[in-house]
Amino acid sequence: MTIVVAIDGPAGAGKSTVAKALARKLRVKYLDTGAMYRAVTFLALSDGVSLHDEAAVAELSVNCVLDVGEELVTINSIDATQAIRGPEVTKAVSLVATNSSVRNELRARQRIWVEENGGGVVEGRDIGSVVFPDATLKVYLTASPLVRAKRRVAQSGGDVAQIAAEIAERDRRDSTRSDSPLTKTDDSITVDTSDRSVDEVVAQLEQLVMIADAKRAANR
Ligand code: C5P
Repeated sequence: MTIVVAIDGPAGAGKSTVAKALARKLRVKYLDTGAMYRAVTFLALSDGVSLHDEAAVAELSVNCVLDVGEELVTINSIDATQAIRGPEVTKAVSLVATNSSVRNELRARQRIWVEENGGGVVEGRDIGSVVFPDATLKVYLTASPLVRAKRRVAQSGGDVAQIAAEIAERDRRDSTRSDSPLTKTDDSITVDTSDRSVDEVVAQLEQLVMIADAKRAANR
C-alpha cells in the first residue's frame, strides 16, 4: 500500500532535515512544498509582478514549469535553488501563500507528485490538514522559538533576536490566513525536536509509520 507521511509545523522546526532522512529510511521520495511557494515568490519578484496582484501571481503559478528536486529547484528552467532561501523570498513568501488560486494550483501539483512517485514524505503547513487528509501518518513537528531561531542562524547566519522576530511574524501569517492555515490536526502526532537529535526523531517516526501502516493493512 502507498505510504504518505505528512510533516507540518512552524518555520525552523527541522521539517526538511527530518523529512529527508525519514524518506531515505522508508525508501520513498521527499517533497518540500515550501520550496514550491518560495519558487513562485521568486518568479514573481524576478518578473516584477506585484505580489498584491493576486490574478497575476496566480497566472504565474499556473503557467510555470516547476521542478522541486532534492538538490535543485528550477522554475521556468532558471536554477532558483539558492535564491529561494534568500531574505527577499523568505520575507515575501507568506504573502504569496495567502493567494488561494496559487494554493489550489500547488496542491494539485503536490497530489500529482505523490501519485507519480507512489507515495512519499511531504512537508509543509497544510499537508495533513488539507492536501493529504488520509495520510498514513501525520506529524506536527515543532521546537521552542529560541531553538528554531538558533537553528536558522546556524544555517544562514544573522542575529538570533532578529531572526526570532521574523520567524514569529511568518508563523503568525501562516497560522492566521483564511485558506488552509498552519494548524495541528486532531489526528496528528506532535513531536518536539528542541532537545532531541535528528536520528532519535527519525527513528521514532519510522516506527510510527510502520505501526500506522500495519494497522491500516489490518483494517482493510
Ligand atoms: O517550509 P518553508 O519555511 O520553506 O515554507 C515557506 C513558506 O511557504 C511558509 O512560510 C508558508 O508561507 C508557505 N507554505 C505554505 N504551505 C505549505 C508549505 C509552505 O503556505 N504547504
